Amino acid sequence: MSEEMVPIDLKNLMNFNCSFENECFNECCRDLNQALTPYDVLRLKNSLGISSQDFLKTYTSLHYGPESGLPVVEFKPNPGKRHECPFVTPKGCSVYQDRPASCRMYPLARAIARSRETGEISEYFALIEEPHCKGFGKKPSQKVKEWLKGQNVDKHNKENDKLIELISLKNQILPGKLEGAAADKFYMALYDLDEFREQIFEKNLLDKFNIPEDHKEKIKKDNEVLLNLGLEWVKHTLFGIKMIFGE
Ligand code: SF4
Ligand code: SF4
Repeated sequence: MSEEMVPIDLKNLMNFNCSFENECFNECCRDLNQALTPYDVLRLKNSLGISSQDFLKTYTSLHYGPESGLPVVEFKPNPGKRHECPFVTPKGCSVYQDRPASCRMYPLARAIARSRETGEISEYFALIEEPHCKGFGKKPSQKVKEWLKGQNVDKHNKENDKLIELISLKNQILPGKLEGAAADKFYMALYDLDEFREQIFEKNLLDKFNIPEDHKEKIKKDNEVLLNLGLEWVKHTLFGIKMIFGE
């Protein structure tokens, strides 16, 4: 599938409309090669009301980056020639409210850079112009900024930027391939949250850190708090960075 990336700014106008009336409806939900972030997995497994183990086993496949050794979790497409997303239906996405960030962003791609001096994040956007997508050139015309607002993607981007930061740290501190137990810890603490929780409360995984009691209570109930703890634990256990409890 050929595609063209065209840089675009938040203030630029975007002539694009995705509608079930378009002849291409659902075409973007097949031939998937879609990596999921830990926050994508969290939202989807919460939405379906199943455990992270069940979600990962049923709907995703796992491989490790050949050079980084980092886990890559992808949607497992439906069997058959069209390789559709497991959540696409004739009426559209069955997990629309909790769809992954990349689905919300499409046909935009987003990259970020953090200033070394100020720590400020700059965002860069590009339009992915793929021949199968017929939404281009259609009304309404709106600024990229407005279109993004309609996709409700800010929370996903905020949470996913934490993963980008972690990968950037890994590239600085451990530039080679992550192997064995280190790669397993990365996967468990970020993607398999229910297993991580069980390791904390049933197998005393984090006892030496004296996590405050009120924070322990939040970890028990809140997957977002648990994911933030997972990010902190990976930073500590793989890169030796002091753990911080809380946002
Ligand atoms: S999660 Fe929804 S929007 Fe994303 S590929 Fe699957 S069906 Fe399409
Ligand atoms: S291919 Fe493009 S216009 Fe068609 S449904 Fe997907 S995003 Fe919308």
